[in-house]
Amino acid sequence: MSKIMPPAHPFDTSYLQAGEDGDKLKEECGVFGVTGVADASNFVALGLHALQHRGQEAGGIVSHDPEQGFQSARRFGYVRDNFTSQDVMQTLPGPLAIGHVRYSTAGSKGQTAIRDVQPFFGEFAMGGAAIAHNGNITNANALRRELIERGSIFQSSSDSECIIHLMARSLQRTIPERMEDALRRVEGAFSIVAMTRTKLIGVRDPLGVRPLVLGKIGEGWALSSETCALDIIGAEFIREIAPGEMVVITDKGVESQFPFRPQKPRFCIFEHVYFSRPDSILGGRSVYETREAIGRELAKEAPVEADLVCPVPDSGTPAAIGYSLQSGIPYAMGIIRNQYMGRTFIEPTEQIRNMGVRLKLNVNRALIRGKRVILVDDSVVRGTTSRKIKEMILDAGAKEVHFRIASPPTAWPCFYGVDTPQREKLLAATMSEEEMRDHLQVDSLKFISLDGLYRAVGEAKGRNSDQPQYCDACFSGEYPVIPSDQVEEGFQMKAAE
Ligand code: SF4
Repeated sequence: MSKIMPPAHPFDTSYLQAGEDGDKLKEECGVFGVTGVADASNFVALGLHALQHRGQEAGGIVSHDPEQGFQSARRFGYVRDNFTSQDVMQTLPGPLAIGHVRYSTAGSKGQTAIRDVQPFFGEFAMGGAAIAHNGNITNANALRRELIERGSIFQSSSDSECIIHLMARSLQRTIPERMEDALRRVEGAFSIVAMTRTKLIGVRDPLGVRPLVLGKIGEGWALSSETCALDIIGAEFIREIAPGEMVVITDKGVESQFPFRPQKPRFCIFEHVYFSRPDSILGGRSVYETREAIGRELAKEAPVEADLVCPVPDSGTPAAIGYSLQSGIPYAMGIIRNQYMGRTFIEPTEQIRNMGVRLKLNVNRALIRGKRVILVDDSVVRGTTSRKIKEMILDAGAKEVHFRIASPPTAWPCFYGVDTPQREKLLAATMSEEEMRDHLQVDSLKFISLDGLYRAVGEAKGRNSDQPQYCDACFSGEYPVIPSDQVEEGFQMKAAE
């Protein structure tokens, strides 16, 4: 075990774009784990802080110390508010720890109980194990019914708890083997960081829908949803965990195996567009660069005469820069985001609530007045925010407003670990592009095409329709794993063409 000491908590900047927007899709979870360093939980707290954009509702850490055994702390709210005090961190000793940040969908949505907050812990004959899951199990209802019939007692309403119960019922001898056994029964998306007394374990589902990466810190190792969380603890990015791979990390090093039936990978293409942080690396390329390429592609596909290209901050920024570079139209910060909104108004009054988007975005009037403005945003979900932003821009004296969207129309819900409204609430599910333009009352509205998005993420020939290279179900309606729970509940899949 190395004696690297954790850095001080630099909790003076926050990157909380996702959860503050009521009209955005929200990534549900981030996972992080560290082994082989002193006070591993401090590193995990920092890693989770860097992953806070993947879930702001609650967070938890489990640690193991040879003398004090397993310890855990689970809290509602931001990492910076819960896992910085010595009072809490001293209760999480040891050289091995994992953590999780959460935004719920599977489970008791809207009223999470502390028992739904991960990591989950199970005590088995061969010792304890804790797991933190990013993704969504699409056959969780069926598994849960079966497990309850066979005597399992669930503590939470989370789909992830099924994994612990399946492990408990496995006849395999070791915890990694039991985990393999359990995960073979599970359908859907999972990137998991788990731990035993002596092992840090990382697993990715065979399609590799959600990200998971491996890093090296001194003599120790780290697993993380994204590389940006390796950076914050000073860990070196080694590689992505491959789709279908399980790594078991001990003091002897990293053992890799591929326990599942191989399938063609279908990584979530929306991670490139919006979910991942722009300073993370995905598929060997910075997310920022990819988003800039998306903006360039959008400018080629949907040019328009205008005076300014403005991002809808913050997530539209790299694509707006790309659009500006490609089109030659000047880039400007026409909308300014208040970075310190955070939880200022936990229980806003009616008057404050009515201010809506103005609480966090303000138009730079001096720039906008009399101009034809291209607004670049990452997506349109319900369209409510886009409409308000358009009104603000026109109030500020813009002559024309043209929306350019860095993803294709979001017409289908995600069942693989992203919170999406029901299909009928998605603007693109019920309206054509022209009808959406009319609804938003803008001068023009264009989305990047699915092929254009594929080209921007590095697929020179666009989307291979016979065997798509990514999951793009929220745009195409073609789900790589049938969401059986949702179908059972009445969800209508797209009819085969
Ligand atoms: S449905 Fe959309 S958001 Fe969900 S995994 Fe697929 S591409 Fe990503």
